[in-house]
Amino acid sequence: MTTKTFITFPDASQAKRSLLDMDEQQLADFLAELGEPKFRARQTWEWIYKRYAGDFAAMSNLPKALRARLAEVATVAPLTLATEVVSADRDTVKCLFQLHDGQTIEAVLMLYDQRRTLCISSQAGCAMGCTFCATAQGGLARNLTPGEIVAQVLYFARYLADPALPPDTDVERPAQVTNIVLMGMGEPLHNYANVWTALRRITDNDAFGLGARHITLSTVGLAPMIDRMADEGLQIGLAVSLHAPNDELRTSLVPVNKGYPVDEVLAAVRRYVAKTNRRVTFEYALMRGINDTPELAEEMAAKLQGILCHVNLIPLNPIPDSPFQPTSDEDTERFAQILRAAGIPATVRLRRGIEINAGCGQLRRAVVGKAKAS
Ligand code: SAH
Repeated sequence: MTTKTFITFPDASQAKRSLLDMDEQQLADFLAELGEPKFRARQTWEWIYKRYAGDFAAMSNLPKALRARLAEVATVAPLTLATEVVSADRDTVKCLFQLHDGQTIEAVLMLYDQRRTLCISSQAGCAMGCTFCATAQGGLARNLTPGEIVAQVLYFARYLADPALPPDTDVERPAQVTNIVLMGMGEPLHNYANVWTALRRITDNDAFGLGARHITLSTVGLAPMIDRMADEGLQIGLAVSLHAPNDELRTSLVPVNKGYPVDEVLAAVRRYVAKTNRRVTFEYALMRGINDTPELAEEMAAKLQGILCHVNLIPLNPIPDSPFQPTSDEDTERFAQILRAAGIPATVRLRRGIEINAGCGQLRRAVVGKAKAS
């Protein structure tokens, strides 16, 4: 594994306007304020979303004076790389980014056979308080803006498109992001409006243009927001972090279960499937002696009967100072078999990126936590 830590700021871009937080009309208005004609908005837009320009200097069909002026007052890269970790097999790249106010967020690029899957964050920190999750431990700092969410995608689009960018890997360098999962830091449905503005920008053919079906949003299960999502008319995949089939156990692991108990979440999921026709994924982090017994597998299978779904079993990524340990491979397979035998498709997710702290919130904890302690 290779770790590179770059100089961190807080930098002066705080006062700069992020063009990624603007739609095309807002961008045109902004450029009009600078005395520019309307067509400059289209040119700038295409540099950002079609050519992944990371700075104004690259925007070669804009007048030099305008590029210099924009660089003074605006930014197209509202996040800066703070730490980059590449796995030993070089097919997972994890980045810790710093935002203009010093907050840090994580994003991970995973190079599968033909897929280039990006895992991005929706909030700096998280308010949900799941007891086994590293992000939860720091609480919520703030919501990410739409531009900060989109910026993570553009960063990796640029990374994949530009073979000169570090680090070199042995993996054949794919040209584009093919899949995105909102499974990084934060609860996407707790930052609903900004996340959906970002998702529209990511899926809009006129902007980034990735098909909605290639995107999955993972939620702790905020039931009313799942309904809202079903009404958006975009075929975004839904993943729900269940982790337990009954309220008593689930509340002890996922405290928001108090407000949105299992049956309510599952009812919202059924409505989502009915509206979108998409198979829903249930995530289940297996913790030794906590939620991994055969009885719980049976209970889980019974609960999910009749739902067009798939269960993703993930042996827990252990986090420091936590009492929770991963279930053994044997017990994980047993749990999966029980689900399958009851007709519920189940797969065991690879523990990808575990050596590079690619579990939720773990890199930030390792880097920022260390900095704080020293
Ligand atoms: N807030 C959203 C998305 C972020 S977390 C959600 O709850 O779904 C993405 C997934 O990682 C969730 O299923 C979450 O429960 C899981 N997760 C968090 N910490 C983990 C850990 N230590 N090991 C395994 N999975 C973990």
